[in-house]
Amino acid sequence: MKMLIGGAWVDASSERTMDVVNPATWETIERVPLGGPEDGGAAVEAAGEALAGWAGQTSLDRGKVLYRTADLVRGEVDTLATTLVAEQGKPLREAKDEVRGFAHILEYYAGLASSLMGETLNTQAYGRIIVEKRPLGICVGIVPWNMPVLIAGWKIGPALLAGNTVVLKPASTTPLTTLAIGDLFCRAGLPAGALNIVTGPGETLGEALVTHPDVRKVSFTGEIGTGRHVAEAAAQTIKHVTLELGGSDPMIVCDDADLEAAVAGAVAGRFYNCGQTCTAVKRLFVFSSVADRFRALLTRKTEEIRVGNGMEAGVRMGPLNNAPGQERMRQVVEEIEGEGRILTGGKVPPGKGFFFEPTVVAGLAPDALSLREEVFGPVLPVVEVESLDEALQEANSTKYGLGASIWTKNLERAERGCRDLEAGIVWVNQHLKIPPEAPFGGTKWSGIGRENGRAALDRYTEERSILVRT
Ligand code: NDP
Repeated sequence: MKMLIGGAWVDASSERTMDVVNPATWETIERVPLGGPEDGGAAVEAAGEALAGWAGQTSLDRGKVLYRTADLVRGEVDTLATTLVAEQGKPLREAKDEVRGFAHILEYYAGLASSLMGETLNTQAYGRIIVEKRPLGICVGIVPWNMPVLIAGWKIGPALLAGNTVVLKPASTTPLTTLAIGDLFCRAGLPAGALNIVTGPGETLGEALVTHPDVRKVSFTGEIGTGRHVAEAAAQTIKHVTLELGGSDPMIVCDDADLEAAVAGAVAGRFYNCGQTCTAVKRLFVFSSVADRFRALLTRKTEEIRVGNGMEAGVRMGPLNNAPGQERMRQVVEEIEGEGRILTGGKVPPGKGFFFEPTVVAGLAPDALSLREEVFGPVLPVVEVESLDEALQEANSTKYGLGASIWTKNLERAERGCRDLEAGIVWVNQHLKIPPEAPFGGTKWSGIGRENGRAALDRYTEERSILVRT
């Protein structure tokens, strides 16, 4: 496959390529251009050339392009989802959900087209004050490999609707579905250069994009260290920055909760996407009076999860996306073995693929490393607590603050969770849901800024005040 720059499909200027590998089979499924700084520069130039034309269209016309693209995406869910399984590893059902989620994001923002407006005020002293909402300009989206399609949608949808042009860099392991969707944007009538998709390493190509002086905004999702670096680099030319840097989401299960529903929520919340979700349940706090029953149910349900190639019927958990991810899970389990006890899982199954068994762990001390740092894979630590006060204190005790959930039938406890959990998104009796209507992003070290909702649209526009005296 080739990169999309200025409406044309092109190779890297160096003519070098990089392999995209199926994480379930280790087979090379495709080669994409290994783009570098020159290619990043070409993409920014193309985005600059397209800017006046795209920003000059009405928001309703821009919305129509998003609607048409969403229709095309929905028409190709099966093909796109199959590509996503092959490059990312997730089960086909999850891949289809993700592709449909992308279409939903475009439809949501297209539907906001007529609400994208400023305001006018008549004053005695200054005459008429008009506040316009204008696009920022060229926006760069840097996307990780865990939810490559959905997260691309969070960045492309609001940016394009607001009249910006976009340069998107997918993660090196998962560029294929994004490139295929780029083709659908072209078929839907998006002008050449309004969306450019470049492939290549973050350290060179990504770096060139986030430091380019003509880029006005960078929206980054990924690891804290990379995010910090991106923010520092972007600050050199005073860019807008949105950072989504992961989390260590707590789930609190009170003694009055519907335990079966909570177990189902924990299993889905931790093992969906092989645990590689920023808002996965990463620490589970259960009241000690119901802990034995909860652990037994949780262990049984976890053991029912069928692990395998995401294309096989009945598979509920695919492999990790990459070798470092699998190696990290090995290390996490090694660390845990000295500190707690493994109730189920904990091993790499024999054979090819970056697989890891769904794992449940108990008996960890509150300061265990796997409770302090984000664990990006299928390992779920369960910790007993005596009270809601203790649960909230532990839940809030990390540097992260992305998502958090409380499971209870008691309204007062639910209200307490909503008030006191330190997170950008709080769920009651559910976890993991991120609809396009709900602003999404972290508090504390989980990031700055918001994606989704009207909040994201505001972050892709800036106000201009015009004072008119006649
Ligand atoms: P990174 O933060 O390294 O990568 C995320 C994206 O940033 C990729 O597209 C990457 O490109 C790009 N990138 C890397 N370096 C730069 C740079 N200097 N300038 C611009 N872009 C850059 O995350 P990893 O993929 O390495 O994952 C590591 C860990 O991050 C995970 O184990 C997990 O803990 C966390 N993570 C969190 C996610 C979340 O949703 N919050 C998502 C993914 C990861 P390339 O792929 O070419 O390196």
